[in-house]
Amino acid sequence: MSFIALNLIAPLLKALDEEGYQHPTPIQQQAIPIVLSGKDLLGCAQTGTGKTAAFSLPILQHLAEQKVEKRAIKALILTPTRELAIQIHESISTYGRFLPISHEVVFGGVNIQTQISALRKGATILVATPGRLLDLVNQKIISLHEVSHFVLDEADRMLDMGFIHDIKKIVSLIPQKRQTLFFSATMPVEIAKLAHTILTNPTRVEV
Ligand code: AMP
Repeated sequence: MSFIALNLIAPLLKALDEEGYQHPTPIQQQAIPIVLSGKDLLGCAQTGTGKTAAFSLPILQHLAEQKVEKRAIKALILTPTRELAIQIHESISTYGRFLPISHEVVFGGVNIQTQISALRKGATILVATPGRLLDLVNQKIISLHEVSHFVLDEADRMLDMGFIHDIKKIVSLIPQKRQTLFFSATMPVEIAKLAHTILTNPTRVEV
């Protein structure tokens, strides 16, 4: 299978070609059509499977087709660690480099002022760790009222790291009418319960 068969738009195909990606990985083959269709997704997949592209490519495509003009955050990607946040943000920069879609990354443990100045320029896609995101919301630097695409990455690690209350708070701040993609490497009962409260009629994908 090729990326063309997945109905991705030309600017994304060009970026993938330049990266040397020839074939979608199994999670990409399964997830991209579901996300493009607008459905919620429950993905059981580890890092290293290509899951970042599996959610980033169709989200970039949705945003490109929406012709986003305003500066509001439309896509929010929550991830547990600074390292993952940086990695996901780099992937989004790479896949989206032929699209006029702005993106930023925020995480804790560093000076918040630098992130505040970067956010003032506007970001359509925001990659964030939960604690720093809530700090920025509480300081009214950002608003989550226009989020239409929400990704919860590495949900099991989020719970292990004690982020459950932050996640519930963040979910309460984003619109109910949205597309949600939920990824976890493992699916114990606790995670399945959380997924059930966040997702609407999701399609399950496992690799
Ligand atoms: P991830 O699981 O998203 O962290 O991706 C793991 C690694 O695989 C990253 O270095 C990606 O750049 C790479 N990758 C993702 N999708 C593909 C693909 N379809 N072809 C080749 N490399 C890929």
